[in-house]
Amino acid sequence: MEDRNPSRNPTTATTADSPEARKTPPSARLEEGVLNHKRILLIEDDAEIARLLQEALSEAGCEVDWAPSGMQGLVKLREAPPDLVVLDLGLPDIDGAEVARRIKQNGDLPIIVLTATDAVERKVQLLLGGADDYLTKPFHTAELLARIQVQLRKGERGRIQRIGDLEISVEGRKVTHKDREITLSPKEFALLELLASRPGRVFSRDEIARHIWGRPLETDSNVVDVHVANLRAKLRDAGAYGYLRTVRGVGYALRQPKT
Ligand code: CA
Repeated sequence: MEDRNPSRNPTTATTADSPEARKTPPSARLEEGVLNHKRILLIEDDAEIARLLQEALSEAGCEVDWAPSGMQGLVKLREAPPDLVVLDLGLPDIDGAEVARRIKQNGDLPIIVLTATDAVERKVQLLLGGADDYLTKPFHTAELLARIQVQLRKGERGRIQRIGDLEISVEGRKVTHKDREITLSPKEFALLELLASRPGRVFSRDEIARHIWGRPLETDSNVVDVHVANLRAKLRDAGAYGYLRTVRGVGYALRQPKT
Protein backbone atom coordinates (compact mmCIF):
# COMPACT_ATOMS: atom_id res chain seq x y z
CA MET A 1 0.00 0.00 0.00
CA GLU A 2 1.13 3.50 -0.74
CA ASP A 3 2.38 5.45 2.24
CA ARG A 4 0.20 8.52 2.44
CA ASN A 5 1.65 9.88 5.63
CA PRO A 6 3.64 12.94 4.51
CA SER A 7 5.72 12.88 7.68
CA ARG A 8 7.36 9.66 6.48
CA ASN A 9 8.47 11.30 3.28
CA PRO A 10 12.14 12.13 3.87
CA THR A 11 12.28 14.69 1.03
CA THR A 12 9.54 16.79 2.57
CA ALA A 13 10.85 16.31 6.09
CA THR A 14 14.25 17.78 5.23
CA THR A 15 12.74 20.89 3.66
CA ALA A 16 12.50 22.66 6.97
CA ASP A 17 14.80 20.56 9.06
CA SER A 18 17.29 17.72 8.98
CA PRO A 19 16.93 14.44 10.87
CA GLU A 20 20.25 15.18 12.65
CA ALA A 21 18.99 18.49 13.97
CA ARG A 22 15.84 16.87 15.28
CA LYS A 23 17.67 14.31 17.44
CA THR A 24 18.54 16.95 20.02
CA PRO A 25 15.52 18.84 21.23
CA PRO A 26 16.13 22.44 20.09
CA SER A 27 14.92 23.71 23.45
CA ALA A 28 17.97 22.14 25.09
CA ARG A 29 20.19 24.62 23.27
CA LEU A 30 18.03 27.60 24.09
CA GLU A 31 17.89 29.90 27.04
CA GLU A 32 15.30 28.61 29.46
CA GLY A 33 11.88 30.16 29.51
CA VAL A 34 12.29 32.80 26.78
CA LEU A 35 9.97 31.01 24.37
CA ASN A 36 7.58 29.74 27.02
CA HIS A 37 3.97 30.73 26.35
CA LYS A 38 5.02 33.10 23.60
CA ARG A 39 2.36 33.33 20.95
CA ILE A 40 3.70 32.79 17.45
CA LEU A 41 1.65 33.37 14.32
CA LEU A 42 2.90 31.17 11.51
CA ILE A 43 1.83 32.30 8.03
CA GLU A 44 2.90 29.52 5.67
CA ASP A 45 0.97 27.84 2.87
CA ASP A 46 3.06 24.64 2.76
CA ALA A 47 1.18 22.37 5.17
CA GLU A 48 4.11 20.02 5.71
CA ILE A 49 6.59 22.78 6.59
CA ALA A 50 3.91 24.36 8.78
CA ARG A 51 3.40 21.05 10.59
CA LEU A 52 7.15 20.64 11.27
CA LEU A 53 7.51 24.21 12.49
CA GLN A 54 4.40 23.96 14.65
CA GLU A 55 5.80 20.83 16.22
CA ALA A 56 9.21 22.39 16.97
CA LEU A 57 7.72 25.64 18.28
CA SER A 58 5.23 23.84 20.53
CA GLU A 59 8.02 21.65 21.86
CA ALA A 60 9.93 24.82 22.77
CA GLY A 61 6.90 26.01 24.76
CA CYS A 62 5.32 28.42 22.26
CA GLU A 63 1.63 28.70 21.53
CA VAL A 64 1.37 28.49 17.75
CA ASP A 65 -1.38 29.74 15.51
CA TRP A 66 -1.19 28.70 11.86
CA ALA A 67 -2.57 30.61 8.89
CA PRO A 68 -2.16 29.05 5.41
CA SER A 69 -2.68 32.33 3.51
CA GLY A 70 -1.85 36.02 3.82
CA MET A 71 -5.47 37.04 4.31
CA GLN A 72 -6.06 34.46 7.02
CA GLY A 73 -2.82 35.59 8.66
CA LEU A 74 -4.00 39.21 8.80
CA VAL A 75 -7.35 38.10 10.26
CA LYS A 76 -5.66 35.99 12.96
CA LEU A 77 -3.36 38.90 13.73
CA ARG A 78 -6.37 40.99 14.73
CA GLU A 79 -8.22 38.18 16.52
CA ALA A 80 -5.34 37.00 18.69
CA PRO A 81 -2.34 39.35 18.59
CA PRO A 82 0.87 37.27 18.66
CA ASP A 83 4.28 38.12 20.13
CA LEU A 84 6.01 37.40 16.81
CA VAL A 85 5.15 36.45 13.23
CA VAL A 86 6.94 33.83 11.13
CA LEU A 87 6.03 34.72 7.57
CA ASP A 88 6.57 32.79 4.36
CA LEU A 89 7.13 35.06 1.37
CA GLY A 90 5.56 32.90 -1.32
CA LEU A 91 1.90 32.88 -0.34
CA PRO A 92 -1.00 31.92 -2.63
CA ASP A 93 -2.96 35.16 -2.23
CA ILE A 94 -0.98 38.22 -1.09
CA ASP A 95 2.78 38.60 -1.57
CA GLY A 96 4.56 38.01 1.76
CA ALA A 97 6.36 41.37 1.54
CA GLU A 98 2.97 43.09 1.33
CA VAL A 99 1.75 41.10 4.35
CA ALA A 100 4.85 42.26 6.27
CA ARG A 101 4.16 45.87 5.30
CA ARG A 102 0.56 45.62 6.55
CA ILE A 103 1.64 43.98 9.83
CA LYS A 104 4.13 46.78 10.49
CA GLN A 105 1.46 49.40 9.79
CA ASN A 106 -0.38 48.16 12.87
CA GLY A 107 2.52 48.34 15.30
CA ASP A 108 6.03 47.08 15.79
CA LEU A 109 5.58 43.33 15.88
CA PRO A 110 8.75 41.32 15.14
CA ILE A 111 8.60 39.46 11.82
CA ILE A 112 10.89 36.67 10.69
CA VAL A 113 10.55 36.04 6.97
CA LEU A 114 11.03 32.64 5.35
CA THR A 115 12.27 32.92 1.80
CA ALA A 116 13.14 30.45 -0.91
CA THR A 117 15.51 32.83 -2.64
CA ASP A 118 19.14 33.44 -1.84
CA ALA A 119 19.28 36.70 -3.82
CA VAL A 120 21.01 39.46 -1.85
CA GLU A 121 18.89 42.26 -3.34
CA ARG A 122 15.70 40.52 -2.22
CA LYS A 123 17.03 40.14 1.33
CA VAL A 124 18.08 43.78 1.52
CA GLN A 125 14.64 44.73 0.21
CA LEU A 126 13.00 42.56 2.88
CA LEU A 127 14.95 44.05 5.76
CA LEU A 128 14.32 47.59 4.51
CA GLY A 129 10.65 46.71 4.06
CA GLY A 130 10.16 45.91 7.73
CA ALA A 131 11.21 42.28 8.24
CA ASP A 132 13.32 41.97 11.39
CA ASP A 133 15.14 38.89 10.20
CA TYR A 134 14.95 36.28 7.46
CA LEU A 135 15.81 32.64 6.90
CA THR A 136 16.47 31.00 3.56
CA LYS A 137 14.80 27.64 2.95
CA PRO A 138 15.82 24.95 3.69
CA PHE A 139 16.81 25.73 7.27
CA HIS A 140 17.01 23.93 10.61
CA THR A 141 14.19 24.55 13.06
CA ALA A 142 16.88 25.07 15.73
CA GLU A 143 18.08 28.13 13.80
CA LEU A 144 14.57 29.50 13.55
CA LEU A 145 14.06 29.01 17.30
CA ALA A 146 17.33 30.83 18.06
CA ARG A 147 16.34 33.74 15.80
CA ILE A 148 12.88 33.93 17.37
CA GLN A 149 14.52 34.05 20.78
CA VAL A 150 16.79 36.93 19.72
CA GLN A 151 13.81 38.93 18.43
CA LEU A 152 11.71 38.31 21.54
CA ARG A 153 14.60 39.27 23.83
CA LYS A 154 15.02 42.51 21.89
CA GLY A 155 11.35 43.28 22.38
CA GLU A 156 11.56 42.62 26.10
CA ARG A 157 14.33 45.14 26.66
CA GLY A 158 12.88 48.09 28.45
CA ARG A 159 9.44 46.56 28.42
CA ILE A 160 7.30 47.33 31.43
CA GLN A 161 4.23 45.24 32.08
CA ARG A 162 1.41 47.00 33.89
CA ILE A 163 -1.49 45.24 35.56
CA GLY A 164 -3.59 47.60 37.62
CA ASP A 165 -1.12 49.45 39.85
CA LEU A 166 1.46 46.70 39.55
CA GLU A 167 4.48 47.46 37.34
CA ILE A 168 6.89 44.76 36.26
CA SER A 169 10.10 45.76 34.54
CA VAL A 170 11.29 42.64 32.75
CA GLU A 171 14.85 43.72 32.04
CA GLY A 172 15.35 45.61 35.30
CA ARG A 173 13.73 42.65 37.12
CA LYS A 174 11.97 45.17 39.30
CA VAL A 175 8.41 45.13 40.58
CA THR A 176 6.57 48.08 42.06
CA HIS A 177 3.07 48.67 43.34
CA LYS A 178 2.04 52.35 43.44
CA ASP A 179 5.76 53.22 43.23
CA ARG A 180 6.56 51.00 46.20
CA GLU A 181 9.23 48.46 45.30
CA ILE A 182 8.56 44.79 46.03
CA THR A 183 11.66 42.67 46.54
CA LEU A 184 11.26 39.20 45.06
CA SER A 185 13.54 36.20 44.88
CA PRO A 186 14.52 35.16 41.30
CA LYS A 187 12.01 32.27 41.40
CA GLU A 188 9.23 34.51 42.69
CA PHE A 189 10.03 37.00 39.93
CA ALA A 190 9.93 34.25 37.29
CA LEU A 191 6.56 33.14 38.68
CA LEU A 192 5.14 36.68 38.59
CA GLU A 193 6.56 37.28 35.10
CA LEU A 194 4.94 34.09 33.81
CA LEU A 195 1.52 34.87 35.28
CA ALA A 196 1.75 38.49 34.09
CA SER A 197 2.60 37.40 30.54
CA ARG A 198 -1.07 36.47 30.05
CA PRO A 199 -3.21 38.32 32.58
CA GLY A 200 -6.32 36.33 33.48
CA ARG A 201 -5.04 33.06 32.03
CA VAL A 202 -4.91 30.22 34.54
CA PHE A 203 -1.53 28.44 34.64
CA SER A 204 -1.46 24.93 36.01
CA ARG A 205 1.04 23.96 38.71
CA ASP A 206 2.77 21.78 36.17
CA GLU A 207 3.12 24.63 33.65
CA ILE A 208 4.52 26.85 36.39
CA ALA A 209 7.01 24.17 37.46
CA ARG A 210 8.17 23.67 33.87
CA HIS A 211 8.65 27.40 33.43
CA ILE A 212 10.53 28.03 36.66
CA TRP A 213 12.48 24.80 37.18
CA GLY A 214 12.44 23.54 33.61
CA ARG A 215 10.82 20.21 34.56
CA PRO A 216 7.39 18.90 35.42
CA LEU A 217 6.13 18.85 38.95
CA GLU A 218 6.90 15.83 41.09
CA THR A 219 3.87 14.09 42.53
CA ASP A 220 2.74 15.50 45.87
CA SER A 221 5.18 18.38 45.60
CA ASN A 222 3.82 21.64 47.01
CA VAL A 223 6.79 23.71 45.84
CA VAL A 224 4.65 25.77 43.44
CA ASP A 225 2.03 26.48 46.10
CA VAL A 226 4.74 27.57 48.52
CA HIS A 227 6.18 30.03 45.99
CA VAL A 228 2.71 31.35 45.16
CA ALA A 229 1.98 31.83 48.88
CA ASN A 230 5.26 33.72 49.34
CA LEU A 231 4.57 35.91 46.32
CA ARG A 232 1.04 36.61 47.53
CA ALA A 233 2.35 37.59 50.98
CA LYS A 234 4.90 39.98 49.46
CA LEU A 235 2.27 41.56 47.23
CA ARG A 236 -0.03 42.01 50.22
CA ASP A 237 2.77 43.57 52.28
CA ALA A 238 3.07 46.19 49.54
CA GLY A 239 -0.68 46.79 49.56
CA ALA A 240 -1.29 44.86 46.33
CA TYR A 241 -4.42 42.87 47.14
CA GLY A 242 -6.50 40.66 44.90
CA TYR A 243 -4.01 40.20 42.06
CA LEU A 244 -3.25 36.51 42.56
CA ARG A 245 -6.18 34.24 41.95
CA THR A 246 -6.30 30.60 42.98
CA VAL A 247 -8.48 28.37 40.82
CA ARG A 248 -9.02 25.25 42.87
CA GLY A 249 -7.83 22.08 41.23
CA VAL A 250 -6.60 24.04 38.19
CA GLY A 251 -3.88 26.54 39.05
CA TYR A 252 -3.13 30.22 39.42
CA ALA A 253 -3.75 33.43 37.52
CA LEU A 254 -2.79 37.07 37.81
CA ARG A 255 -5.39 39.70 37.07
CA GLN A 256 -6.29 43.28 37.78
CA PRO A 257 -8.22 43.30 41.06
CA LYS A 258 -11.88 44.19 40.90
CA THR A 259 -12.49 47.64 42.38
CA1 CA B 1 5.07 29.16 0.12
